Amino acid sequence: MVFPKSRDEVVQVLRFANERGIPVVPFGQGSSLEGHTIPRQGGISLDTRLMGGILDIRPEDFVARVEPGVTHGKLNASLEERGLFFPVDPGWDASIGGMAATNASGTNAVRYGAMKDQVLGLEIVLADGTVMRTGGMAMKSSAGYNLTGLFVGSEGTLGVFTQITLRLYPIPEYVLAARAVFPDIEAAGRAAVATIRSGMRIGRVELVDARTVEAVNAYKGADYAVSATLFLEFSGSEASVEEDVEKARGIAEAEGCSTFEFESDEAGRKRLWEARHEAGIAIKELHPEAKPMTTDVCVPVSDLPDALRHARETIESYGLDGAILGHVGDGNYHAVFPVDPEDDEDLARAERVNAEIVGYALARGGTSTGEHGVGFGKTKHLEKEHGDSLQFMREIKKLADPNGIMNPGKIFS
Ligand SMILES: Cc1cc2nc3c(=O)[nH]c(=O)nc-3n(C[C@H](O)[C@H](O)[C@H](O)COP(=O)(O)OP(=O)(O)OC[C@H]3O[C@@H](n4cnc5c(N)ncnc54)[C@H](O)[C@@H]3O)c2cc1C
Repeated sequence: MVFPKSRDEVVQVLRFANERGIPVVPFGQGSSLEGHTIPRQGGISLDTRLMGGILDIRPEDFVARVEPGVTHGKLNASLEERGLFFPVDPGWDASIGGMAATNASGTNAVRYGAMKDQVLGLEIVLADGTVMRTGGMAMKSSAGYNLTGLFVGSEGTLGVFTQITLRLYPIPEYVLAARAVFPDIEAAGRAAVATIRSGMRIGRVELVDARTVEAVNAYKGADYAVSATLFLEFSGSEASVEEDVEKARGIAEAEGCSTFEFESDEAGRKRLWEARHEAGIAIKELHPEAKPMTTDVCVPVSDLPDALRHARETIESYGLDGAILGHVGDGNYHAVFPVDPEDDEDLARAERVNAEIVGYALARGGTSTGEHGVGFGKTKHLEKEHGDSLQFMREIKKLADPNGIMNPGKIFS
């Protein structure tokens, strides 16, 4: 394990490793979910936690430049007093380097997009120690190939990010969070789709099924109604928010919503989102003896209600105690079920469930992973998803990393 403190130290490590053919696996917070940071061929785990500096915040340009080890929580803590925020919020306080490398997103993606929409530029150390800069401080650019976009989502297989330039946003004037309880998961899914289609500027649309609510209640000592629930957030001017909320309430009621409640003060909203953010950990605690397996498909939003039903039926048909939750505003949801990794039969069954859910999404033009990335766990789905463009990706990998030292065995099998 190596803990570089600067770009120049990263350069030294990569030169050393490249000359000797030693694998290097960049490491942020280690919260990625597909075995991304496991050095499967041994080598150097390059931990960026000592490179946690916020180098520059330019409030007038809505831009910040950071080192890779800074977490989104730390960045937001230093932005708040300036009336700004950074919107990408995975449920773990992940590093900006890791988030850029997995093209992470979270509850705010429906409004603000994923990391690929926030990263304006990168400083990258390539496998042979060459330093390369992409992008800049401008909000947009048409100058040649979009290399920033290529490196975002590269999962440590093309190089190490040593600086990241990010887009920032003003903290909205007025924010209201709502909780809507539905008779079943499909009704909740239909309401989510109708809310998006209505054209209102919704901030967040998160879905949890009844089993997730049970888990959250047990974990947080809460007493939310045990039924499929949408968590919604509206932001803007007070008048526009009030209008949107009434529209959303009408949509929810048309789908049989029994309770539509608000959290308007900051403490209440924080509690509500804490419950949503910690749902993953709460589900894990339902079966502490097992490991949670998480699917991450994303489908076109109109397919969402049927996809949710299919996921629920698939889990049940295999006799698994699964929970479903997700950022359904953009068609992304997770089915989570317990697996005993020491039990080959259990593992094979979980893989079949995962493959069925992925197959369903791909058949509808969706993706095997909306936000977690490929890592090692999803390499087997990539051929099916990308077909002929996979070879092009392999050629890019060869160009950036001819000796194959950067996080080998990830993305490609
Ligand atoms: C409870 C929980 C909830 C989660 N919720 C979400 C969610 O809502 N949305 C979401 O998108 N994800 C979510 N995740 C997954 C995870 O938080 C994200 O994938 C996150 O982006 C990983 O960041 P990290 O700092 O932990 O990176 P790591 O896990 O350390 O690394 C991830 C990948 O990035 C590479 N990498 C790390 N740093 C660099 C660098 N400086 N340069 C180049 N490559 C680098 C690594 O080699 C690896 O391939 C969740 C995870 C957990 C445990």
